[in-house]
Amino acid sequence: MFITFEGIEGSGKTTQIQSAAAYLSGRNLPVVVTREPGGTAIGLKIRALLLDPEHHDLDPRAELLLYMADRAHHLSTVVRPAVADRKIVLCDRYFDATLAYQGYARGLDIDFLKTLHSLVLDDFTPDLTLLLDLPPQIGLRRAWRQISAGEREAAETRFEKELVPFHERVRAGYLDMALQSPKRFRIVNAEQDPDIVGRDIRGILSHFFDT
Ligand code: C5P
Ligand code: MG
Repeated sequence: MFITFEGIEGSGKTTQIQSAAAYLSGRNLPVVVTREPGGTAIGLKIRALLLDPEHHDLDPRAELLLYMADRAHHLSTVVRPAVADRKIVLCDRYFDATLAYQGYARGLDIDFLKTLHSLVLDDFTPDLTLLLDLPPQIGLRRAWRQISAGEREAAETRFEKELVPFHERVRAGYLDMALQSPKRFRIVNAEQDPDIVGRDIRGILSHFFDT
């Protein structure tokens, strides 16, 4: 079983994936938690390249191919073997993130991205995708609690002009995909208190595994 968690920064994916894993382990289900980019040793190096602020000028197609390189390696060495071994794989981001960020938000052609995915990933699709949805204003502020005051000050100026509009496009992209694939997606209101979000997710998972 392959379950992905998606959402903008500060939507609580990392926290919620841990709590979902604890819940499933408590039900004696075999769980593997992983993430993209960075779910493998090579992937961690790719992640460091992608997130290095010195590389802000990375060409969008080069950026895309780095994400795809991470994903191809992660899928074949971590996700597929675990799924074949009947594990429940909980993955923090997968191809919907590429469609939302590089497609909807950065403007790369969506059909091209889908073709690339089908070539590189053999159309390996999640069984279930939990979309942690909330307004970027709230998510980005939350994510900022984790960065230093100095970085925050520098970022503050970009906040309204760049970051919020960009993440509005990411959010709209995710919601559009969720509408297009209602069987695979569940939208979770991530603006709520984390305990309530966790309860909602447990409800979705128990329904998913019991029916
Ligand atoms: O939230 P997470 O730690 O997974 O994301 C790391 C960063 O990578 C975020 O800042 C997100 O904006 C960015 N990202 C991206 N395109 C993707 C996936 C993540 O720009 N396809
Ligand atoms: Mg995270």
